[in-house]
Order: sequence, then C-alpha cells, then structure tokens
Amino acid sequence: MFKPKAIYFEKDIINYPLGKELMEKYKDIPKVEIENHNNIEEMRKNPNSEFANMKRNLIIGIRKTHKFVENHKTSDYLVPYTSSGCTAACMYCYLVCNYNKCAYLRLFVNREQMLDKIIKTAEKSEKELTFEIGSNSDLILENTITNNLVWTIENFKNTEKGKLTFPTKFDMVDPILPLDHKGKVTIRMSVNPEEIINKVEFGTSRLTGRIEAINKLKEAGYNIGILIAPVILVANWKELYQELIQRLSQELSEKVKKDAFFEIIFMTYSYVHTKINEEAFPNSINLYNKDIMTGRGRGKYWYKNQVRSEAEIFLREQMNKYFPNNKIEYIV
Ligand code: SF4
Repeated sequence: MFKPKAIYFEKDIINYPLGKELMEKYKDIPKVEIENHNNIEEMRKNPNSEFANMKRNLIIGIRKTHKFVENHKTSDYLVPYTSSGCTAACMYCYLVCNYNKCAYLRLFVNREQMLDKIIKTAEKSEKELTFEIGSNSDLILENTITNNLVWTIENFKNTEKGKLTFPTKFDMVDPILPLDHKGKVTIRMSVNPEEIINKVEFGTSRLTGRIEAINKLKEAGYNIGILIAPVILVANWKELYQELIQRLSQELSEKVKKDAFFEIIFMTYSYVHTKINEEAFPNSINLYNKDIMTGRGRGKYWYKNQVRSEAEIFLREQMNKYFPNNKIEYIV
C-alpha cells in the first residue's frame, strides 16, 4: 500500500467529495498547500537525483484541461482523466515530459465533471465511440488510492453508448472483478520479459502477476488486449521476447487466447530520460544505444529503420507461431 511522504494540495479540492475523502484518509500525512498542481516550484527546482524521492509524494488538485485528443489506434479519443503520472518509475516512461514536472502522481478530484463529458460525447455521437482513459497514468494503480476505477465502471455501465479502455502494468485487479461492467470496458495489460521488468520497470507488477491478472479479468468478462510494450532491443532481446511470447502462450487461459488482441510498440527514448536516469538511477542499464538508435526530432530517439524492421519480422514470426489466431492491431 502506497503511503505518501507528503500531500501537496490545491485548497479547493475540499469542495469535491473525493477531495474531502482523500484529505480525511491522509489526515496524518504532512500537507503543503499549493496554488497550482501544474507548477510546484519546490519540485521543479529539485535535482534529477531526487526523481524517485519526489514520487513518494502525492499531489491532489482539480483538472482544468479537458480536451479530448483524436486517436486512431485502439480508441477514438484520448481523454485526460482522473490522474496523471505514477508512483512507479519505468525508465522510458513517456509521461516524464519536462524534467521533474510530470513525474509524480497527481490526482484530480473533479471526476464527476470528467466522466460526464465522456458520457455526453458518447451520447451525441452517431458512431459508437471508445475512450482511452488511461493515457496519462495507470488507473489500476490509481484505483488502490482513490477507488476511482470502481467508481468509473459503476457510473458508466448504464450509459446507452460508448466504451472505455486503458492500459496497465499492475496486477491489483481484484476490486474490479465483481463489477457488472456490461462488456463496456477493455483492459490492455502491458507485458515485457521478466528481466526487463526487473531492470527497467521499477515499482510495477511482476510478469507472473500480470499474466494472472489477465486471466482473472477475462474470467470476469472484461475484453482483453495485450501490449507487448515497449519492446527494448537489449543485447539478448531475441531470446527474451521469444521466451515471453512462448510463456504467454503457455500461461494465458484458453478463454484469453480465444480473442485477445495484441499491440506491439517499440521503445522511444529521449535526452530528458537519459539525463534523469543517469542521475536518479546511476547503477541502472543505459537504454540509449547510439549504434541502433537515431534522432527523431527535438531530443527524441528511436530505433533505426532497418533495426526496427528486422525486429518486427522476428516478432511477427514468433506471434504467428504461438498466437496464430490472434489479431495484432499494429506494430509501431
Ligand atoms: S507504470 Fe506506466 S505510468 Fe507508471 S512509470 Fe511505468 S510507464 Fe509510466
């Protein structure tokens, strides 16, 4: 159970039921009042070596930006939802945007307003829309603090239209198993070889737990996607990803294998990640490899086209062998 070191809060959160509830839950934790969750001066000034320590704090505020972004992968819109950031520390996390600004977990208490906008947008649309509600954080993790996922599913299940989806790297799925979700929720579990989880995805659930969670969620009737993501081309990557795909085929239930779909995403990395990681995790592996990566505008790196194409061919071969009947939505 995550116990915050300190709570940074906007004073108006107590005008919302969840804000009151969280302030009561954490009444014994030191508090710091802030003007704006987007700009906490004392955090921004911290050196990168403080990165992991800062993640022990919890920031509670009100979300002001509610702009949906069109998406053309497994949803129609990316929706800013009830949290941003995370208490875990995957070394490549794309939520690490501007040094220390987005690293820590921020919770937004105006959930009624956010869900209402999703429901109204779904109802107005002629086509059935799917909303990605987990692109800014990990909702299974957040649910252990706020119960927001349970609240969301219960308040969404009876709407006439619309579907929800989110990815996760966590296995604490038990609270949502008994819910009557009416088939409106797709959960996409992100997996990686155990060795990569250990060395790179600090603070997330083990592979065994993630596989068990997928099987339980399917038993509970949820639609299941599996993200092999991000694919990281470490020296022994072929062996690791071949073992991963084989292990999934052995340990996922027949029900999951019947209709789960896959997404495969190669890692992108950045100069900011390099700087934070070398100071925050000085003994960890270096994910930037200049021999196989190339620039992709404004301090971003990705795998060179030829390296990526060869890896894609290999992964497709493995998927054909172990999951011949499952759809790969995309490889990017
Ligand atoms: S679990 Fe997800 S949100 Fe959290 S650090 Fe890892 S990639 Fe980022």
